[in-house]
Amino acid sequence: MTDIFSLGASSDVFERARRVLPGGVNSPVRAFGSVGGEAPVVQSAAGARVRAVDGREWIDYISSWGAVVLGHADPDVVDAVEEAAERGTSFGLLTETEVELAELVVEMVPSLDMVRWVSSGTEATMSAVRVARAATGRDHIVKFAGCYHGHADSFLVAAGSGAATHGTPNSPGVPAALADLTLIARFNDLNSVAQAFETEPVAAVIVEPVAGNMGCVPPEEGFLGGLRQICDEHGSILVFDEVMTGFRVSPGGAQELYGVLPDMTTMGKIIGHGLPAAAYGGREDLMSMVSPSGPVYQAGTLAGNPLAVAAGLATLRRLSDEPEIYDALEASSARIEDALWDVIGTLELPVTVQRVGSMWTVFMTETPVREYGDAEAADLAAFGRFFTYAFEEGVLLPPSAFETAFTTLSHDEDTVEETARVLTTALERTWT
Ligand SMILES: *Cc1c(COP(=O)(O)O)cnc(C)c1O
Repeated sequence: MTDIFSLGASSDVFERARRVLPGGVNSPVRAFGSVGGEAPVVQSAAGARVRAVDGREWIDYISSWGAVVLGHADPDVVDAVEEAAERGTSFGLLTETEVELAELVVEMVPSLDMVRWVSSGTEATMSAVRVARAATGRDHIVKFAGCYHGHADSFLVAAGSGAATHGTPNSPGVPAALADLTLIARFNDLNSVAQAFETEPVAAVIVEPVAGNMGCVPPEEGFLGGLRQICDEHGSILVFDEVMTGFRVSPGGAQELYGVLPDMTTMGKIIGHGLPAAAYGGREDLMSMVSPSGPVYQAGTLAGNPLAVAAGLATLRRLSDEPEIYDALEASSARIEDALWDVIGTLELPVTVQRVGSMWTVFMTETPVREYGDAEAADLAAFGRFFTYAFEEGVLLPPSAFETAFTTLSHDEDTVEETARVLTTALERTWT
């Protein structure tokens, strides 16, 4: 197997890929479009390292966009998946393990009474919004510029022009009539939320409680609590999209870390540790509206897939039994952040590092990034240079200025020291 795969250079595989896959990839960011250069074609990964078909190797901070919090090919996860596969890959009937994982998730995440398994974050968020619309009898939702909630039509929406907060499609194929139901507010700006609520009756506010899809942007003091209050005043549903933050910033996600409880929560990424598992959940009265216990239809052939659930169980058991994992993630990520601030301070570079636990982003701007406009104002060309220097020296950052890097448990002391050395040098070279 290994030998066959290592025969082709990444460029050969990409040439074949472009003939049969749009843009040669199955998710746009994988094409390295915003940083330039040739994207790697992965042969395998283990722990903190990922290896390309041509033998090049990197310390990885994409980490499957945060999913593999224990590291690549974690032995517990691999064993669990192998054992599950031997018992059958999918049945289209209830299994005990999906109940067990649901029980564990409900125990770990403070606001949850019930969950429904789905296969992707996109499905989780679109389903949560359907429940919120059904529960409130309202059609409009509020989302924040720069927050990503998957690719369902209602979320591929940008702020319209002028003072109006009604959204417009930001992809062809999204009906304008649907985008009009999505009101766009600014992250960390409660006034913009209040303005949206004055425009229309709102079914739900959906938010990444720590934004990760415009780079890492923490919620400011009072922002999440303010959303809770506004939703309560208007009888609207507050949805925390914890697809990225769930089980990453704490065992109970951002809602545990910041002590603000949403009505509904969406989860993905870590919940399947790299296998396709995701979920949405919330209070019993809301989740009881979901079919077949209630009238809101939502279904999935592969929902609660036994391989994905086995991976999730192996992962969440570790995370709930060993809280010291979060101390380790904090320490290794802080070490990288401190090294970067040292060189930023010494050389007076126009660079800002933002971090919540093991989520972090290097922004090429002097001022803190509080919302999407700030992230857009950063120097994207400088980020491209920084990324490329790091890439050439063996550190793989997410290939976009609007993404978050993820430290995993397998980024040990040596790996982190190597990272600090490479990234500080890359920052120096970016600006000299
Ligand atoms: C990744 C992500 C999604 C989409 O999940 P998919 O599994 O890619 O569909 C939704 N919301 C957030 C916050 C995410 O980070």
